Amino acid sequence: MGRLFGTFGVRGVVGEDLTEDLARRLGLAFGTYLGGDAEVLVGGDTRTSTDTLKDALVSGLTAAGCDVVDVGVAPTPAVQYLVESEGFDAGAVVTASHNPPEFNGIKLLGSDGCGLPKEAEREVERIYFEEGEDRAEWESVGTRTRAPELLNDFVGAVRDYVGDFDGEGLRVVVDAANGAGALVTPRLLSELGVEVVSVNAHPDGRFPGREPEPSEENLKETMRMVRASGADFGMAHDGDADRLILITGDGRFVPGDYSLALISAWALDEGKGRQIVTPVSSSMCVQEVAEEHGGEVVWTKVGEPIVVEEIKRADDPALGGEENGGIIYPDFHLSRNGIITALLVCKLVAEEGSLDDLLAEVPQYHLHKTGVECPDDLKPRVMEEVESLVEEEEVEEVITIDGVKLFYEDGWVLVRPSGTEPLIRVFGEARDEDTAVKRVEEWKRRVEEIVRELQG
Ligand code: MG
Repeated sequence: MGRLFGTFGVRGVVGEDLTEDLARRLGLAFGTYLGGDAEVLVGGDTRTSTDTLKDALVSGLTAAGCDVVDVGVAPTPAVQYLVESEGFDAGAVVTASHNPPEFNGIKLLGSDGCGLPKEAEREVERIYFEEGEDRAEWESVGTRTRAPELLNDFVGAVRDYVGDFDGEGLRVVVDAANGAGALVTPRLLSELGVEVVSVNAHPDGRFPGREPEPSEENLKETMRMVRASGADFGMAHDGDADRLILITGDGRFVPGDYSLALISAWALDEGKGRQIVTPVSSSMCVQEVAEEHGGEVVWTKVGEPIVVEEIKRADDPALGGEENGGIIYPDFHLSRNGIITALLVCKLVAEEGSLDDLLAEVPQYHLHKTGVECPDDLKPRVMEEVESLVEEEEVEEVITIDGVKLFYEDGWVLVRPSGTEPLIRVFGEARDEDTAVKRVEEWKRRVEEIVRELQG
């Protein structure tokens, strides 16, 4: 049987891997999976291909008998939240998140607004490839209703969640990546009194301002603008606004795990829970801040759906998050939400002090990243060898949740096979740069030797 779904939904280059024909057939298969009379909420990002793909998806869903409500252009967290809060049976978002403009994707959501569980995806795939096209009779073809006003319910809920604050006097650069966040974040902040300096603020699926991935490389211009505009700080979304990256007033890029640490302090102090759920690749600073505020870190494998699963399993989750700027607020919804993060950071700065002051509370680590080329079929044996080497190493703790992570007194090293490339990643942190580089390079040398011997 063929495969459609990757880590989170279907993703590919428009017109090649992802066509309107595939979208329509996927709509039909999903509609059939839902039993043909479900109510489904759909929405999408600002990409040039989103309307076409969404129309095709809706066409399939209604042909299967489902009634569809279309919220229009909306951040992914908005669609996810609304599926659950408005009581839909399912949902779908047409978006390729942070990928370049030629990409698009379709994420299918269950009634809880989270990505479909793996077994459900398998079943939709089975229907797609094996069952052929099973349409509703003429009298039960579904309806499509447009409901852009639903976005206001999401905006209101975000405002309520964060709580009011006086943003007067704050000057913040907001870079919406010409994506779906452009419709929400600048407006929300302005309503709270923040002076918003908008960058890439008109929805445009060609992404003329920058690539939608909020990486340090892609944000160079925005970082310069924060510095030049005399803003207090800056923030940048990815294309569908489930992520947010911060930029300090002097134009420094803040890695997402440092903002996660900052928000973790808030969540733990607010009594949101005790556990911060984050992948093993996140900075040590998250653990330190969590422990300082009476919480603990639950380490997970890398990937948003896995973080969500672990939050569901955790007994007292306060927050989930990744180093890419995606933070999940479990008592709001189990989806990454860059808009809540945007508001919260403004609130914290308005009430507690500058972003620099807040970040000064987060311990700084030096990250060193490298990798060793390794054919995919050798990866499992290389990792076995790595594990056996670990026994001789003097470390505080070793975890093998995803790759092998060694905790040293003042940092860590993670040896982890890449999921997408013929590569074993070796990276780690330490309090000082020399130690980080020395330790990571030493592990790189060991992995290289193992690969060489196994290939020998
Ligand atoms: Mg995204």
